Amino acid sequence: MRKDLFVLLSITVLLISSYVTIPARDSEPTVTPLSSNEATIIQMINQINESLLFEYHHKLMMFGPRYTGSINCTLAAEYIYDSFEQMGLNVEFREWHYDGFYSKNVVATLYGTDVNSTAEYILCAHYDTVASAPGADDDGSGTAAVLAIAHILSQYHFNHTIRFITFSGEEVGTYGSFTYARDASHRGDNIVAVLNMDMIGYASTTEGGRILRFFPPIRSRWIADYATTISEKYNEIIDMKIDTLPSYRGDDSQAFVDYGFDGVWIAHQDGYPWGHSSNDTANHLNWTYYIKATKLMLAVTAEIAQKPIDVQVVLHRPYEGYTYLFENPVFESSFGKLPFWDLRGLTIILGGKTIASAEVFSDEPIQYVIFCIDGYFMFWDTQPPYEWTIQGWFVPINGKHMLQVYAYTTSGKIASDEMDIFMLSLATSYKG
Ligand SMILES: [Zn+2]
Repeated sequence: MRKDLFVLLSITVLLISSYVTIPARDSEPTVTPLSSNEATIIQMINQINESLLFEYHHKLMMFGPRYTGSINCTLAAEYIYDSFEQMGLNVEFREWHYDGFYSKNVVATLYGTDVNSTAEYILCAHYDTVASAPGADDDGSGTAAVLAIAHILSQYHFNHTIRFITFSGEEVGTYGSFTYARDASHRGDNIVAVLNMDMIGYASTTEGGRILRFFPPIRSRWIADYATTISEKYNEIIDMKIDTLPSYRGDDSQAFVDYGFDGVWIAHQDGYPWGHSSNDTANHLNWTYYIKATKLMLAVTAEIAQKPIDVQVVLHRPYEGYTYLFENPVFESSFGKLPFWDLRGLTIILGGKTIASAEVFSDEPIQYVIFCIDGYFMFWDTQPPYEWTIQGWFVPINGKHMLQVYAYTTSGKIASDEMDIFMLSLATSYKG
């Protein structure tokens, strides 16, 4: 931990430009236009069945334990890659090196058809396991669900982009998702929501057999609320409701939340006795439940990727996870090994004069953009670029705070974004 604090003081080269080139849309899958009606979604839901899910799950189980960096883990990644490729999706490995580990996330993209939308939704799971477990539930269940849902959704088109991602490095410190979220933040990816399925294949009670749990942080609660409306819409054919619980730190969605995106961990209700053990095997799954959970997640993903986005605001600066000296980002903080410390993605501002800058995407004219600290009004701007020099009014801002931005359209629609900052500064707008 002390080492991390020293790493914080070491200077890394500032790389504002993209780390990874995003390929052009080359391999479009076979297409059925989605008319946004329920019948089409029901058609998709009905294509999720045991043989499809079992096929993907069974092949994954054949690799045995998939500890990050092991040969099994690499072979599983290649299998997942090939599976996505067969669906006609644009697929790529995103390699990552972190804390002595080297591995690959597998990312498949179904590009949205709305040329005005940069929005993307991530449906994800982790394909790695602890060293001794075959990981049937944790998280073979989520991984095979990502594949099965991708298999079906890839035959349709949606307004917004959907990325199907399987991460490695979850069990060693959520490193696969951390490196992805960090790099996505630097690239400026417009990730609207991350749906992370981690342990969705088990139920032991009648009640638990009808409940899928969502664990959003407060800012991402809208995802669970939206998914709840979808679960109600298709309740007659899926028979699964959503329980929304407080957020839990430590799953793969957390890194995205730390880097300013919205995300949620999704899991079954009933306790699973075989987690992280050699008994986490396919015969312990409840396949009836697992199929229902996968159907519901397909419906949620299909609906959310089709839903129009009226207005959206994104805080582009300061860069998440950088340390600023006055207006300059001087180095990237290195708290990645501390997933439970609430420091990943923390932006440190020393001296003040740092500019906050927001971009707004909207169908309607924007009335104003308001910058806040901890919910308190600080500054408004009516013209792009929407910017504010972060400073107190009569007293300086010091310590850890939440920088927020709200965009108001002329008809009163509101969007918001936020960022954790730690500030040491004497700057104020007015001298008291
Ligand atoms: Zn897991």
